[in-house]
Amino acid sequence: MKRTITIEEIRKTVETAYVHFREETGGKNADYIPYLKNVPSALFGITVCLTDGRSVSVGDTDYRFGIESVSKVPTALLVMNQYGANKVLERIGADATGLPFNSIMAILLENDHPSTPLVNAGAISACSMVRPTGDADAKWKAIIRFVSSLCGSDVAVIDELYRSESTTNFNNRSIAWLLKNYNRIYDDPEMSLDLYTRQCSLGVSAKQLAIMAATIANCGTNPVTWEEVFNANLTPHITSLMSTVGFYERTGDWLYNTGLPAKSGVGGGIMAVVPGVMGLAAFAPPLDGAGNSVKAQKALEYISVRLGLNLFNPVHIEVAAQEPVKEKVCQ
Ligand code: GLU
Repeated sequence: MKRTITIEEIRKTVETAYVHFREETGGKNADYIPYLKNVPSALFGITVCLTDGRSVSVGDTDYRFGIESVSKVPTALLVMNQYGANKVLERIGADATGLPFNSIMAILLENDHPSTPLVNAGAISACSMVRPTGDADAKWKAIIRFVSSLCGSDVAVIDELYRSESTTNFNNRSIAWLLKNYNRIYDDPEMSLDLYTRQCSLGVSAKQLAIMAATIANCGTNPVTWEEVFNANLTPHITSLMSTVGFYERTGDWLYNTGLPAKSGVGGGIMAVVPGVMGLAAFAPPLDGAGNSVKAQKALEYISVRLGLNLFNPVHIEVAAQEPVKEKVCQ
């Protein structure tokens, strides 16, 4: 069963979500990374990008904020693209830990694998896998080029954020060495940790994140630049990872309410994917107790419910095309 919606319906829904939640006062900025504490809390923006490249934006959608944990998605995709999805499953895994994203306990409990590339342990492990092995500069170039291709424009590290994270990431340092202890790090541990810290410090806008999400929705082809960024068959793998762990230990609640694969970061960004249809992104710094942006969650949940985007719903959404669309098949 299919239901067709229009870009105008999407525009109205996004604008209403913005107005509804603009005054929401819940949550507070992440403070364990000093830079994040000082980002203006009132910033708020929402972008939807369709798989034909049309987009709708409202609010502060050009502001570049710290991508943080959302960066775990592109790096997971990069290593899947370099090694194949099975190798990543074998070396890192695809199971949620049910514990906080930076849990050391989770590594001790599941010592044979770091569970999923979308928590800190698995993401550091994924950074260690990025090719070419042993060459920090070339690995970093591969990561930043890949993220830029997904976003359809250049991204760069926020230096102050990188310094802020590097001088406070003691927990992540423990994770890197614990992974080494269990033979779950595939390059130098300090280098892998530094790559992870740098990728978390990338500045992105809501517009860029929505294009990244739309590229995932469009099976690896960026709908704005038409660059083929990753292998088309990886979309179902990355969206399944996002579905199981994208909101830390609140992932079940999110999925129950929205039915959307999505990933949040402590910088206040969230991106969500409706495969074959659109990518969505929202940004607002104040977070709930689990580390998810309060406003961004509410706005995206509102949009998902209003437009009927829930993937578990038997009625699937398509957006009325303005002109013939180049279709991409996920196989
Ligand atoms: N750089 C942050 C950390 O490693 C990312 C956390 C997040 O966004 O979940 O703690």
